[in-house]
Amino acid sequence: MNQHIHCLIDSCHYWTRGNKCQANEIIVTNDKFGNSHPDRIDAKMAMQLSPTPASTCMETCCKTFVPKGSDRTMADGIKRMS
Ligand code: SF4
Repeated sequence: MNQHIHCLIDSCHYWTRGNKCQANEIIVTNDKFGNSHPDRIDAKMAMQLSPTPASTCMETCCKTFVPKGSDRTMADGIKRMS
């Protein structure tokens, strides 16, 4: 469960009050991977993906991010828990 994932990205579909992430799972990748793979590549595929190293937090991203109001919220199979 991700009840301990705190996030300040309030423009994300999965964000909720108290700065909590309500996605049932997320995946964090390096920026290069995030920029070069489509939305459907996400946490559901984590076991099949190779690690993507980063040197600083600036090189990492939450790939599960979807903008609020987007029509792409179902593209990756991730569910909002509430
Ligand atoms: S999916 Fe990622 S960006 Fe969106 S609320 Fe959760 S941790 Fe934040």
